Amino acid sequence: MLTKASELNAYDVALENFDTAADALGLDHDTREMIKYPERVLTVSVPVLMDDGHIRRFEAYRVQHSSVRGPAKGGIRYHPQVTLDEVKALATWMTWKCAVVNIPFGGAKGGVTCDPKHMSQHELERLTRRYTSGILPLIGPEQDIPAPDVYTNPQTMAWIMDTYSMTKGYAIPGVVTGKPISLGGSLGRNEATGRGVFYTVQSACEHLHLPLKGAKVVVQGFGNAGSIAAQLLYEAGAKVIAVSDSRACILNRNGLNIPELMHMKALTGHVEGFPESEPIAPADLLALECDILVPAALENTIHAENANSVRAKIVAEAANGPLTPAADRILERKNIFVIPDILCNAGGVTVSYFEWVQDEQHLFWEAQDVYDRLEKVMKNAFRDVLKIHVDKKVSMRIAANMLGISRVAEAVQIRGIYP
Ligand code: NAD
Repeated sequence: MLTKASELNAYDVALENFDTAADALGLDHDTREMIKYPERVLTVSVPVLMDDGHIRRFEAYRVQHSSVRGPAKGGIRYHPQVTLDEVKALATWMTWKCAVVNIPFGGAKGGVTCDPKHMSQHELERLTRRYTSGILPLIGPEQDIPAPDVYTNPQTMAWIMDTYSMTKGYAIPGVVTGKPISLGGSLGRNEATGRGVFYTVQSACEHLHLPLKGAKVVVQGFGNAGSIAAQLLYEAGAKVIAVSDSRACILNRNGLNIPELMHMKALTGHVEGFPESEPIAPADLLALECDILVPAALENTIHAENANSVRAKIVAEAANGPLTPAADRILERKNIFVIPDILCNAGGVTVSYFEWVQDEQHLFWEAQDVYDRLEKVMKNAFRDVLKIHVDKKVSMRIAANMLGISRVAEAVQIRGIYP
């Protein structure tokens, strides 16, 4: 029986992906035991004084999957559907992602089960500060460094940085990345994930001899990652024909004006009703004939029931885990080239690493410096993954997992066990 995507457990998917890649690597049992599971899992109960004078309790998590290659690193998600298993899956993917782009970090993730769209700024600030106090024993610039994820942003990071710094007694900008520039954030961090997606799409187009100019693009999830990827693809001459957010899907077969759409989204918070566009159903958006489909919303949006309808040449996973394993197999059969999440969206954590380096050195780089270094990292990682894909005749996802897992495995084997 097919598992419904909504019932699919992201952590099961993460473990299944690990086993497939570990089998392809011929990884021994002992190494698997040491690197497969999260090192630390913390659940915190977060009481928050709401604006109506009542206390509301939120369940929240921080998971450190690996610190083998360096401090654990990963974003914090605020969403009503956050579960511990989702956070464990996202933390696991962070470990392999950091290793794929070869930055000296392990993997972590945090999450708060809440509905930020229905909370005031004051409530979000109190929630963030109390959550930070809850995870304080785990985080720190040499231990575990949070960053933004779905429905968290530079302001959230500023509150975390301030709360952490106030408990220590001095400013510690390196405890989080994705901060405002005025607090030690890096130029280029806000657009880093979308920019990284763009670089990997460029590499994939080169590999497939597909001209980016005139290529038809569909973006599911017009948020931070999706909108920046759309903008850079638009600037490179691609035609972004459809985009969506949690409220609406819009289409213009002649191409949407992305800078204007971004302007409208910044003003209104959504894409619905954009001039010169027509509304379409979410299922129709995924089924549009296009060259590049960018899922940039949440997990499991492409699954066994809708993967057959996908008619793209490239699927660029800006989101984490947008394809279920069943969808993966279907797209592979359809010969669709998938740029897997741990490669495709690694630009965010890469510039987070640059931010951390700049904070540690108290020396800040020009935006162009950040872009150039990011392009080099992303294109090198794409080349390394593609080589495994071609040499070992495995999917790009298995190839990326093989690369990430093999680097962590090598590190753990050299380190050994202590105590
Ligand atoms: P975001 O909150 O800025 O954007 C998410 C967007 O998805 C919003 O526009 C929202 O309306 C839309 N959305 C939500 N549910 C949807 C649905 N069912 N259909 C269509 N659209 C929907 O978040 P983000 O930071 O852009 O993250 C998006 C994805 O990218 C997540 O999977 C995240 O883990 C991943 N990611 C983000 C970063 C980063 O640096 N921001 C880095 C790596 C991976």
